[in-house]
Amino acid sequence: MADLNDSALSEAGGDALQVMIAGAGVAGLEAAFALRELARERIHLTLLAPVQEFVYRPMAVEEPFAAGGAERYPLSKLAAEAGAELIEDALAVVDPERRCVQTAAGNELGYDALFVALGARMDAAFDHATTIDDGRMDELLHGLVQDVEGGYLKRLAVVVPAPPPWPMPAYEIALMTSQRAWDMQMAIEVTVLTPEDGPLAVFGREASLEVARLLAERHVDVVSSAYCEVPTAKKVTIRPSGESLEVDRVVALPALSGPAISGLPHDDHGFIPVDEYGAVRGVDRVWTAGDGCDFPIKLGGLAAQLADTAAQSIAALAGACEMPEPFAPRLEAVLLTGGSPRRITNQPTGGQGIQSELVRITRDAMPPKIAARYLTPHLPGQPVA
Ligand SMILES: Cc1cc2nc3c(=O)[nH]c(=O)nc-3n(C[C@H](O)[C@H](O)[C@H](O)COP(=O)(O)OP(=O)(O)OC[C@H]3O[C@@H](n4cnc5c(N)ncnc54)[C@H](O)[C@@H]3O)c2cc1C
Repeated sequence: MADLNDSALSEAGGDALQVMIAGAGVAGLEAAFALRELARERIHLTLLAPVQEFVYRPMAVEEPFAAGGAERYPLSKLAAEAGAELIEDALAVVDPERRCVQTAAGNELGYDALFVALGARMDAAFDHATTIDDGRMDELLHGLVQDVEGGYLKRLAVVVPAPPPWPMPAYEIALMTSQRAWDMQMAIEVTVLTPEDGPLAVFGREASLEVARLLAERHVDVVSSAYCEVPTAKKVTIRPSGESLEVDRVVALPALSGPAISGLPHDDHGFIPVDEYGAVRGVDRVWTAGDGCDFPIKLGGLAAQLADTAAQSIAALAGACEMPEPFAPRLEAVLLTGGSPRRITNQPTGGQGIQSELVRITRDAMPPKIAARYLTPHLPGQPVA
């Protein structure tokens, strides 16, 4: 990887394209590093972020199991490595006509190209379930893990709301809980209830069947095509069957909604409409990617891939390269199990073919949880693909 440092920022003269990135999560940072690599001194990069750290969210699921946790990286360091000016503030309004934004602090900032990557909002889908929030995973689930270890919790339901948020954490929590009970020689019934057609169905039929096999081996039941309600803290009702499940505890994934930023279009759930080049539909010179856009699968790896496409579109505007190929999602992920992780891929094989597979790997050979081509090398402690 080329040395990306402050010199790129100082070289950016008055003719440089003024690129503003709002949001410094996976998509925002991936776009920043991709843009610096692709367009170098042809751009001046500004990163607008209301936080001081980038948190590697997927590993938060291990916190309640005392098995690891989410790494944190100072944004000031990452911004410097991307040659970006960091402004600690939030995006409030976009004015595409005047090509400027208003920030939460009341400042007006101009841009030539704007990349909006604000992620999604998380809300509880069910009043009577414990809704996971990766920002306080240990606080929410540590007691549950202790109850499993002590043999007080015998029946756990993990409910995925519709539409499903990120695909991985429900299965990871189920597998790790079941493994912990096994390690402590405690009996537990874990059930995942999901609107998906099968477990991790987005990864394709073969991988989904392998995941189903793994869950069965670990005595985790799956009820798929299930649209649930949680009428009490110990009961899940399933639609359309009308059946219900009595349990000791219900854990649910959150419902996601988009950022619904004033001045940009959005659907009924606040998600920003995106095209296959990462551009916001119907708006000039604004691009987007990640959990906040209306691409239906929410996955960090896809956030990064679409951010790369958007970054190349912006770099092309700066005259640095050709326009990218249209976004063609390739799904890859790592499933944490409490034992050996599994690598899951769903790749086009040429023609109309798709190869979907699940492979057992060792922890030492584990690729990054989020496949992000330009960002990962800047995250010490994360394996480089
Ligand atoms: C528990 C868990 C496990 C997961 N596991 C996996 C996995 O195994 N593999 C995988 O690929 N993905 C996984 N994901 C999904 C992945 O983390 C997300 O898809 C990814 O973080 C989305 O990136 P993003 O940039 O769109 O949003 P985020 O990473 O959420 O970043 C959005 C950023 O925007 C900032 N922001 C918000 N509002 C504003 C504003 N108004 N102005 C400026 N900035 C703003 C936020 O502070 C944040 O920094 C998991 C997620 C969770 C929660």
